[in-house]
Amino acid sequence: MDRQQEFVLRTLEERDIRFVRLWFTDVLGFLKSVAVAPAELEGAFAEGIGFDGSAIQGFARVYESDMVAKPDPGTFQVLPWETPDGEHYSARMFCDIAMPDGSPCWADPRHVLRRTLARASEAGFTCYVHPEIEFFLLRDLPKDGTPPEPADEGGYFDQASHNAAPHFRRHAIEALEAMGISVEFSHHEGAPGQQEIDLRYADALTMADNVMTFRYVVKEVAIKQGVRASFMPKPFSDQPGSGMHTHVSLFEGDRNAFYDSEDPFELSSTGKAFVAGLLHHAREITAVTNQWVNSYKRLIVGGEAPTAVCWGHANRSALVRVPMYSPGKASSRRVEIRSLDTACNPYLAYSVVIAAGLKGVQEGYELPPAAEDDVWSLTESERRAAGYSSLPQNLAEALAVMENSELVAETLGEHVFDFFLRNKRAEWDAYRRQVTPYELRTYLPML
Ligand code: GLN
Ligand code: MG
Ligand code: MG
Ligand code: MG
Repeated sequence: MDRQQEFVLRTLEERDIRFVRLWFTDVLGFLKSVAVAPAELEGAFAEGIGFDGSAIQGFARVYESDMVAKPDPGTFQVLPWETPDGEHYSARMFCDIAMPDGSPCWADPRHVLRRTLARASEAGFTCYVHPEIEFFLLRDLPKDGTPPEPADEGGYFDQASHNAAPHFRRHAIEALEAMGISVEFSHHEGAPGQQEIDLRYADALTMADNVMTFRYVVKEVAIKQGVRASFMPKPFSDQPGSGMHTHVSLFEGDRNAFYDSEDPFELSSTGKAFVAGLLHHAREITAVTNQWVNSYKRLIVGGEAPTAVCWGHANRSALVRVPMYSPGKASSRRVEIRSLDTACNPYLAYSVVIAAGLKGVQEGYELPPAAEDDVWSLTESERRAAGYSSLPQNLAEALAVMENSELVAETLGEHVFDFFLRNKRAEWDAYRRQVTPYELRTYLPML
């Protein structure tokens, strides 16, 4: 048993923890949990916990359904609230999923990201990311299709004290910090009820775990505050949606490979080639970074969401931004990709983003000139003349581009790639046959 495993067992005893939840993530990004008694953990570290993978989205065909969850002791955290008896805490660990023969399970999103990061590491890079996570606080989550009611009337950066959940952000941040997730920044976002919490950077695998934990913690804290949280990308037609702008940097040892003090953007040639990779492969990775029918309702002109494949420096309509917050500070040089939404699977989304950027670095892609004009105000043909392609306008288009992508197939692996396309086409077909209230309102009186 190694030191981390011993630490876990000792903490369980010292804190009298009765349940350990073993967490993993399915292909669509839903958190799964199996609770074990502390007495089972020694065995779980040695051999893993067996479960039926065929019941999990994307995990296995029925005839090869036995799988094993192996807890990663480095992710051990005590959950910051008690179990219902009011006395005993429970804890969680993320798991890596293995096949019965011990080999990593190809359907495990955590494995997909580990494989991508191993490729980055072969090229000499460690990948750091930090997300700006936007979401809505709502009074309730109606299931009958009626629009939800925002939990407050605040706007961008408002210090709103007149709302239903005045202390929500403070409670959420305390709970996140108690689980080892550092918060850098938080504020009210543009729409009523909309919040943003930005996490301090971490390596990409830790951050994907953190994003999964974040969604869980934020939903729990919201319920405790008498409201509900939703990561739906675009719940309101007339308000901005919720994105998850993601800042990425590559380090070679202690050196930020994106920093060059000589460049006007303080962006190194590696940084430029990385951005070129993001732009070059932007369309084919969008189905993964924006995986729901609803994701594409956010990616429209206005609302500060990107629609055109271009990069800029202060330009908030660009897909990729090279921010200049702290000039001269090598460690904070990073690039920001703005298409992701918080309802993505963070393991798969980080995988395709990093793979696209690395491809640019490895193939030496050339970065096109920065777009400093407001691309939202350009017409489609002006955009084409400027050489900007558009992000896919709906899930069907995104899937059609992804289907022909060698990069995405290689990054996700054949099994996840096929499952994803099949599952998402079914989602599109289910949506496409719906006659919407918009159509009835518009066409019935007119036609
Ligand atoms: N909500 C916007 C989006 O969907 C971002 C707003 C902002 O942080 N500038 O991406
Ligand atoms: Mg922000
Ligand atoms: Mg924001
Ligand atoms: Mg941002």
